[in-house]
Amino acid sequence: NRISTTFDANDLFTGGNGDVYYGIEYNKKLMTGSNTTPNKHPDGMTWEEVKKALTFDKKLLKNIEDNIVEENMDFFREVYSKRITEPKFSKLTYNEFVNSDGIKTVLGKDEYPRANATLLTLVRNQELEDIIYTLRQLEFNWNHKFHYPYTFINDEPFTEEFKETIKRHTVSDCYFEVIPPEIWNKPSNIDPIIEEKSINKLKEQGVQYIDKVSYHNMCRFNSGYFYHLERLKQFRYYWRFEPATDYYCNIDYDLFKFMEDNNKTYGFTISLYDNPLTVETLWPVTLEFLEKNPQYVHPNGAFRWLTENVQHPDYARTTGGYSTCHFWSNFEIGDMDFYRGEAYTQWMDALDAAGGFYYERWGDAPVHSVGLGLFEDRSKIHWFRDIGYHHSPYKNIPNSDQCLAPEDSGYFAPEDVHDQNCLSNWIRLEMTNKELQTY
Ligand code: GDP
Ligand code: MN
Repeated sequence: NRISTTFDANDLFTGGNGDVYYGIEYNKKLMTGSNTTPNKHPDGMTWEEVKKALTFDKKLLKNIEDNIVEENMDFFREVYSKRITEPKFSKLTYNEFVNSDGIKTVLGKDEYPRANATLLTLVRNQELEDIIYTLRQLEFNWNHKFHYPYTFINDEPFTEEFKETIKRHTVSDCYFEVIPPEIWNKPSNIDPIIEEKSINKLKEQGVQYIDKVSYHNMCRFNSGYFYHLERLKQFRYYWRFEPATDYYCNIDYDLFKFMEDNNKTYGFTISLYDNPLTVETLWPVTLEFLEKNPQYVHPNGAFRWLTENVQHPDYARTTGGYSTCHFWSNFEIGDMDFYRGEAYTQWMDALDAAGGFYYERWGDAPVHSVGLGLFEDRSKIHWFRDIGYHHSPYKNIPNSDQCLAPEDSGYFAPEDVHDQNCLSNWIRLEMTNKELQTY
C-alpha cells in the first residue's frame, strides 16, 4: 500500500508557475484543492459550514495511512533535501544601500527605519547565562544588522546583574519589564477543588509540569496576555525567543519587514503534536464558542491540519477532534494585532472561563495555533524554513550555505520521537505549491 516518495526534489520546485506538483498523486490533488479554495466568505462562515470544514476527510491521506510516521518523515527529508536561499516571491528589505557612486553603506541604529517590532523573551534571573547564549546567536546571525529592541519580561524584578550583563551584549535598546501580578497569577474563577482533583489525575498519568502552578501561569500568560503589557502595547510584531535555544543560520533580510511587507501574521519553524491529556477539552470548549460565533472562522483556515486524525487517531479521540498539531511557540514571529483582535480576544475569554489553563495544562503553542488555524487566513502563516533552529530535542536545519551543518538538513530529532512531527501535515494539507516553491 506504500506509495513511492522517490522523486527529484529539484524538478519539483523549479517551476514557480503554480503548475508543478510534488510528483505524488494525492498531493497533486491536495495542492489543487489548496490552490482553488478562495476566500469565498469574507465575512466568515456559518456554523454548518464550520462543522463541515472541521470534519477531517481521511481520504486525503489514504495512500499513506498504514505507514504514516515513516511516510511523513520520508516526505519531510525529501522537502528538506532541496537547497534553499532566501524566499523568492517576497519583498525583502536589507540594511545595505548602494549609492550612485557604487559605494555601499549600512545604516546605523538611529538611521535604519525599523518595523514596529521587538525581540521578546519571558525569562528568569537564574537563566541569565542561557539567555546570553541565545542572544549572542541572534545578534551574530541577524540583529547586529538591524538593532531591533529587546524586551525581557519576568514575573519578578530583574537583578542589576541580569540587566547589566544583557546590555553588554547588544547595542539595541533593552526593556526590562515586570508582569503585574493580576496578569500573571491564577484568576479567581479557578475552583481549587476541581483544580486539585484534575491535577492529581493528570499527575498520575505522568503529565510533565502538571503540578507547577508557575508553568500554568506561564502558559496562560503567553497564550492570552503578554501582548497587553504596557510596554508591548507600543509594538506590533514580536519575535519570541527562549534561553538555551540555538539559531543556526545567517539571515540578511529584515524578518519583521518581511512579515509586514508580505502581509504575514505568524511565522514558525517547527510543528509538533502535543500530549492530548494537556488539551483534553480545548477543542470542545472551542467548538462551543464557535457554535455561538461561527462568523469569526476564516473560510481559508487551516482546518485540515487542526483536525487530522490519521497519524495519531488516539490523540484526536482524546481531544474530541483536535489533532494536537501546533506551531512550536518557543520560536515564533507574530503580529500581536491578531491576538488583540475581536475573534481571538472573545475566544480567549471563553477559554479563561472554562479554566483549562489550570484544570488541564493548555499550552500557549496549541492555543496560538488553534486561534490562528481558525481565525486567520492560512496563507498569512509562514513556515520560516530558512531559520535554522533548535530547542531540545527538535531541530529545523535548512539545506543552505547560510547555515551551520546544512548536510544535516532533514534531521528532526531522535528516532523515538519521529511520530511527534507534524510539519509534513502542514506542508501536505495546508501549503500551496507556490508557497512551497517560495524558497
Ligand atoms: P518548556 O520549553 O515547555 O520546557 O518550558 P520552559 O521552562 O522553557 O519555559 C518556557 C519559557 O518561559 C522560557 O523562556 C522560560 O524562561 C519561561 N518561564 C517559565 N516559567 C517561568 C516563570 O515562572 N517565570 C519567568 N519569568 N519565566 C518563566
Ligand atoms: Mn523551553
